[in-house]
Parts: sequence; C-alpha cells; structure tokens
Amino acid sequence: MQEIDRTLPALEGWRVELIGVPTGGDVHVHLRLESVMEGVLVTGELDVPVAGSCARCLEPFEDTLHLDVQELYAYEGSTTEATSEEDEVRRIDGDFLDLAPLVRDTVVLNLPLAPVCTDDCAGLCVDCGQRLDDLPADHHHEIVDARWAGLAEKFGTPAASAPSSSPGTPGESPTTEEN
Ligand SMILES: [Zn+2]
Ligand SMILES: [Zn+2]
Repeated sequence: MQEIDRTLPALEGWRVELIGVPTGGDVHVHLRLESVMEGVLVTGELDVPVAGSCARCLEPFEDTLHLDVQELYAYEGSTTEATSEEDEVRRIDGDFLDLAPLVRDTVVLNLPLAPVCTDDCAGLCVDCGQRLDDLPADHHHEIVDARWAGLAEKFGTPAASAPSSSPGTPGESPTTEEN
C-alpha cells in the first residue's frame, strides 16, 4: 500500500456558478493506493478551500470542504475495464496512475450549486433587501412602501369621487351645484 499525503496548489477552473476553489489555493490530498484484483483502489480524503457567494444572502464567504475519495483505477485488460464504458472507469496507463483528474472531478462534482454562508442563513429581507442575519430579530416593515401606498390610493380615489354629484354624500358644503 502506498500513501500520499501532500498539499498541492489548486488548478484553474475548479468552480461552478457561485463557488469555486481559488486558483493556487492549498488543497490537502491524503490518499491511500491499494492493489486489488482489478487494479488499484484509491481511497482517502481531500481538504479543499473554497470561496463563493451565498445563494440566499449573496454575501461572499470562504470555507473548507472535506471530501471522501474512493475510486478504482482498473488494469488494462481487467474484467472491470472490459465491462465498463470508456468514460465510466479510470484506467492505469502503464505504471502511471494519474490522480489529478480524480482530484479535480471529486472537487468539482462536490461543489454545491446553492452554497450558503451558514446553514441557517435567513437570506434577505423581501421588503428592504438587507441581510436578515445583520438585522435585529424583530426587524419588520409596518407600513407598506410609500409608493405602494400611493398606488392603493389611486385605485380607491376614482370610485369614491366618481359619484360626487350624487345626493347621498353628506358632510359636503351646502353649495350644491345642482341647484
Ligand atoms: Zn447567506
Ligand atoms: Zn427589511
């Protein structure tokens, strides 16, 4: 059994939409290589620094992902190799075991599509757009935005003012136009 315990710089392009590994960031690779019947079994862990934007509150944040690795590199001519599609199995090329694609795939496939700065991030206030976690717990908006209040008034006014000539509106000044 062979053991690899190394810190390597992340390569470019290890990212998905909202989160990625900073290029050159320290990726800790701890892998064990074990000879099995069909090839070499690679197991271990990766510690990967990530930087991204929270999908809920849009705040930038940094984190470290701890990822498990378990992958078989098949020998040429092994049953596993013969019964697997071209892109389904990793192969041992001569004596050479290329671990870089495995690390890269493991990282990229585990990057969250909707990352969050904290598990219970409350996101943004729908009324004012501020981060709810930065606001007092009782943060709320009593009054509808003035512009919306204005809109409500506009809807009400025409209906109420239309029958102004009707006789059934008391409280008005006695100067009735009809007379
Ligand atoms: Zn957040
Ligand atoms: Zn608010």
